[in-house]
Amino acid sequence: MNLNRKMTLLFGGIAVGTLVMLILISLYAFRSYSIASSTAHVRTAAEVVRVHLTESMILGVINKREQFLNRLLEVQGLRTARVVRSTYVNEQFGAGMNREMSADEIEKLVLADGQPRYEIRDDGGESVFRGTIPFAASSRGTPNCLQCHKVSEGTVLGAVTMELSLTELKEKALTTVTWISVTMAMFAALSIVLARRLILPVGSTAQAVERAVQRALKGDFKGRVEKRTDDEIGQIASETNNLLSFLDDGLARISQRVVQLTGRTLRQDDNQLEVAIDMVNGLADASSFKQAIEEDETKSEIFDRFGRVLTDQFGVREFSIYETSGPKQLEPFMVDGVQGSPCRWCDPQILVRSDMCRAKRSGHTVDGLTQPGICYAFKQPDDTGETRRHYCVPIMQSGAVGSIVQLVVRESEAARFHAQVPYVNVYVREMAPVLEAKRLTETLRESSLRDAMTGLNNRRFLEEYVDTLVATARRRKIELALLVLDIDYFKMVNDTYGHDAGDAVLKSLAAVLRTSVRASDMVIRFGGEEFLIVLQETEAENALRVAENIRATVEDMKIQVGGAVLQKTISIGLAMFPEDSETFWQTVKFADVALYRAKEDGRNRVVRFRSEMWEGHADSY
Ligand code: GH3
Ligand code: MG
Ligand code: MG
Repeated sequence: MNLNRKMTLLFGGIAVGTLVMLILISLYAFRSYSIASSTAHVRTAAEVVRVHLTESMILGVINKREQFLNRLLEVQGLRTARVVRSTYVNEQFGAGMNREMSADEIEKLVLADGQPRYEIRDDGGESVFRGTIPFAASSRGTPNCLQCHKVSEGTVLGAVTMELSLTELKEKALTTVTWISVTMAMFAALSIVLARRLILPVGSTAQAVERAVQRALKGDFKGRVEKRTDDEIGQIASETNNLLSFLDDGLARISQRVVQLTGRTLRQDDNQLEVAIDMVNGLADASSFKQAIEEDETKSEIFDRFGRVLTDQFGVREFSIYETSGPKQLEPFMVDGVQGSPCRWCDPQILVRSDMCRAKRSGHTVDGLTQPGICYAFKQPDDTGETRRHYCVPIMQSGAVGSIVQLVVRESEAARFHAQVPYVNVYVREMAPVLEAKRLTETLRESSLRDAMTGLNNRRFLEEYVDTLVATARRRKIELALLVLDIDYFKMVNDTYGHDAGDAVLKSLAAVLRTSVRASDMVIRFGGEEFLIVLQETEAENALRVAENIRATVEDMKIQVGGAVLQKTISIGLAMFPEDSETFWQTVKFADVALYRAKEDGRNRVVRFRSEMWEGHADSY
C-alpha cells in the first residue's frame, strides 16, 4: 500500500471516528438537555398548579379546578396535565373528581413515597416526557397546609402528572447534529484533499527514489528522481541525483580503465557494478600472480603456477603450453598441467612444422570458442567425449612467438569461459615480460659460464660448480682425475697463420676433447689455450690411459686452416683428487706442475704429478 493511500485511510478513519463520536456526544447532550429542561418545566408547571389549587381553595373555587387544568393544556407542547388525590385528602374531604381518583402505577408510587418520577416514552412515534410530582403537606409555606389538612408534616396530599411532547425539540436536535456532521465531514474531506496534495510529492519522490535504487542495484546508475518541491523532499531528490551521478561517473571511469586493462567489452545488459568488481578482482589476482612469478626461479615454476591458476580460478583442466624450440619446431612444455606430457590437443605435426599452428604463424590469438574449426591443427579428443573448443594465445618473446598457451574447454562450457577470456589474457600479459626476463637471465647466466668460441664451460663455471663437485666426490668416496692440457708451441700458429687460424685450432681441439671423454666428465677452457678435464670416478691408471689417448688423438688430428693443414701436439699434466691433495685447487696446481714437467721433458707427453715435482717448484707458486 503506498503512502498516499495509507494517509487517506488514516485521515479518513480519524474523520469518520471523530464524526461518529461527535454525533453520539451531541445526541447524548441533547437528550440530557431535553430531560433537564423538561424536568424543570414540569416542576415549574407543577408548582403553578399547586399554587393555583391552593389559591382556589382559599377563594372557595376549588370545584372549578377541572376547568383550570383543561385550560392548562392549551400551553404548547403540554399534552396531559392531571392531578390525583391521596387517600388522606379523600378521607378528609370526600372523593374528588373521577380523574383525581384513578391514579396509575407511577402515580401510586409517587403518592406512596413522595418521590417525583420522570420518564421518556414513545407514544405512536412521538417522544413524550412524563413527570409526576408529589404535593407534600408543609407548615412552613403560606398558607400553612396543616391548617386545613389534618395530616402530619410532609404527608403526600396528591400529585400532578404532566406530559410534554419532545418531538419538536428532537427535530431541532437532529437538524443541528446533521448540520454539525455535514460541516465536519466537509472539513474532513477538505483536510484529506489538502493533505493528499501535501503528501503527493513525498509519495512520488519516494517511489522515484525506490525505482532509481532498484536500477542502481542492477548496476545502472542512470536513473534520476524528479524534483517536485523546494522543501526537504526536493532536497532528497536532488541529493539522490547527485549521488547517482557521482556513482555513475565514478563507475564509468573505473570500468573504462579496467576495460582498457582487461580488454573486456561491456554489454548493455551487464551489471556494471558487478562487472567492475569482477574486473578489479581479476586484476588484483593477476597482480598477485605477477608478484609471485617474479620471485619464481625458473620458467617451469612460472608455467606450473599458471597451470594452477587455469585450473583453480578458471576451471580449465585441459590445456597445453608449447615452447618454440627451433626455427620450425615446437615442444609441448606442459599438457593438462603435467610437464613433459606428449602433445594431446593438436596435430603432432605442429611440433616439426610449427607454421601449422595458427597462433605461432600469425602471432595473434586464435579464438576457437566463437569460431570453432578456425585452426585445422586442433585435435578433438580421441574418445567419443563431448566436442571441445580451444582458445590459443601466443606469448611474444623478443618480437617473436616464444610460447603458446592453448586452452581447451567443452563445447557446453564455451560461452561461460568466453567471459573469462579477458582475465586469462591479463594473466598471459602479466606473464610475458616475466618469462622474457627469465629467459634473458637464463641465457645471460648460461653465457657467463660458457666460453663463446669453443662452447665449453669456462673457469667461472668450475668456480661455481667446484663445491658441489667436491662434496659429491667426498660423499661417494670417489677419485677425480684432473688433466691440465696446453698446446705445444701455439704461439707459432698465431704468428705464422694468424689469429683466426689459432682460433680454428682451439675449436677443433675443443671438439676432440669433448668427444674423448664421457658425458659425466667435464671439459673446461681454463685459459687461453689451456684446458682442464675433470674425469669422474677414475683412478690414476685409467686417467693416464685417457690422457694418453687424448694426446695421441690430437697428435693425429689434421686441421684445415685456409690452404694449409696443421698438426699440433699437446702436453698434459695429471694429478689426482684427493689422492695428491685434499684441496681441489691444490690438485689443479699439481696437475699444472706436472704439465710444466711435460713441457720441460720435451712436450707432446703426459706426466703424472709426483710430490717431488712440487718440492722443486714450490717456490715458483
Ligand atoms: P708452449 O709449448 O710452451 O706452451 O709454447 P706456446 O707457444 O704454446 O706458449 P704459451 O702456452 O705461453 O702460448 C700462449 C699463447 O696462446 C699466447 C696467445 O697468443 C695464444 N692464445 C691464447 N688464447 C688464444 C686465443 O683465444 N686465440 C688464439 N688464436 N690464440 C690464443
Ligand atoms: Mg699456454
Ligand atoms: Mg702452449
